Parts: sequence; C-alpha cells; structure tokens
Amino acid sequence: MALRRDFLLFPEGKRKAVTFSYDDAVTQDIRFVSMLNRFGLKGTFNINTGLLGQESWHTQNGKTVTHNKLQPEQILEVYSGHELAVHGRTHLDLALVPAGTAAYEVTADRRAIEEMVKHPVTGMAYPFGTYTEETPGILKNCGIEYSRTTHSTHTFEIPENFLFWDPTCHHEDPKLFSLTDQFLEDLEEKDKSRLFYIWGHSYEFDVTDTWERMEEFLKRIYGHGDVWYATNGEICSYVRAVRALKYSADGSYIYNPSVQDVWLRIQGKDYCVPSGETAKVGE
Ligand SMILES: [Zn+2]
Repeated sequence: MALRRDFLLFPEGKRKAVTFSYDDAVTQDIRFVSMLNRFGLKGTFNINTGLLGQESWHTQNGKTVTHNKLQPEQILEVYSGHELAVHGRTHLDLALVPAGTAAYEVTADRRAIEEMVKHPVTGMAYPFGTYTEETPGILKNCGIEYSRTTHSTHTFEIPENFLFWDPTCHHEDPKLFSLTDQFLEDLEEKDKSRLFYIWGHSYEFDVTDTWERMEEFLKRIYGHGDVWYATNGEICSYVRAVRALKYSADGSYIYNPSVQDVWLRIQGKDYCVPSGETAKVGE
C-alpha cells in the first residue's frame, strides 16, 4: 500500500491563503484598511485599547512621522470587515513584567475589545514581538488561542503551535516580491497548501515612503481564484477544525465534530468533510 499523506486544503478546497496582521491602531490604518478593502483583502488589527486617542511622533532613520492612535469611537468603523485582536492594554513588554501584570495587560485589552465587537476575542500579537517561556501559558489562561511573533520564516507553512505564529515576512522585507512570485506559482500535486502571512505597522509606509510599493504588492496578491483571503482568526479557527478531525483506526472514515466544513486532499483526491458528518475516504 502506498504511503498515505493527508493535506489540509483551505475552504472550498483552495490550496493557498493570504492574511495580514497590523499593529498599534495608528491613524495611518485608515488609508491602509481602505487599500485592503479596495482589493478584497482581509487583515487582523492588534490594538492597545488603553492607548487609543493618544498622539505622538515616531522618528526613524532621521524622518519623523505622526504616531497618533485612533479614537475609541473610530475603531468599529475603520476596521469593519476585518478582525480586531489583542496587543496588550498599554503595549507593555510582556517579557519584562511580572506574570500577573502580563495577564492583566492581555485580559484588560481583550475585555475592552470584546465590549466593542460583542463577541469573544481570542487573537493577539506580542507587543515588541517579545515573550518568555512563561508567556504562552499566561496567554492560554487568558483565553488567547493564537499570538503572532515578529520572526519572518520566508516560508508558507501553517504553524504547529498558534501561540508562536511566525509570519512569512514583514511588508518591507526585500524578499516580498520574490516570495510573492514563489507563492503564486503553480502547486505540484505533492506540494502542501501555502499560507502567505504579511505583517507590519502602517505608519512605516510614511517613514519609508512605501505606500506605492505596498499597493503594487496588493495588486499582485489579490483576486486569485485559488487563494482564500481571510483574517488571522478565520485561518486559526479553520486549521483547528481540521486538526480536531477524528480518524478511524485504518483512516478510511473521518468524522468532523466542528461547526465548519473542512477540506482535505488524500492520495491526490479532494474531500469535503461537512460539519458534524463522517466521510468515507480512500478508494
Ligand atoms: Zn506594537
């Protein structure tokens, strides 16, 4: 019998997914979100609810740009259609504060976002990208299911552990366009599904004058029929549903206990396992 490999496919049997993750809820997000909207792209915005409305400046490479946070009453409108996630109440470095303080930073931010969106919020990005061995345990206890790091993988892998969700690259990565070509090229039958995960801060487009470059990237990545454009949370929740499938001993029956339909490729054949149903797979 040939070695069997089951691949995760994204919803509707798509083999590629693209997602964005942007931090700090700065006013430049208004322009960036409108760009994403124009191209039908989806992102997750990690916000510090304790800092909303504050105004400041950011200086980098001798250039100073505004670093003003959106007002609380702007949040729902600006990010409509996208996901809101935790980034710490006041952007403390969670690796440098006591566990109780880290838990409070996460939970208070989570609670404040939930008050706005009226549903559970389980996503996060690490403030400053930093954490200790202890941090993921704290996040888990605070109800966080995934948290984005700042380590670029330059790959399209789906994370093993969503509490260390490494992105593909930052938007200013010199490899952004070569990665895009690699991502968009045709998949061989044996290739795994690909996830392209881009992160950054929208004020950086002002610092480096890269709004046009980003728009060029969005034009290349949008509108592909074999790509699922989703928020971080949608991807995490879908992958968790696939990982929660129950297999019979010989692998020929697969039960899907989740509330969403999932898709798999088994021995070159695509299957949908509907929510709450059992599929017979193989010959
Ligand atoms: Zn930040």
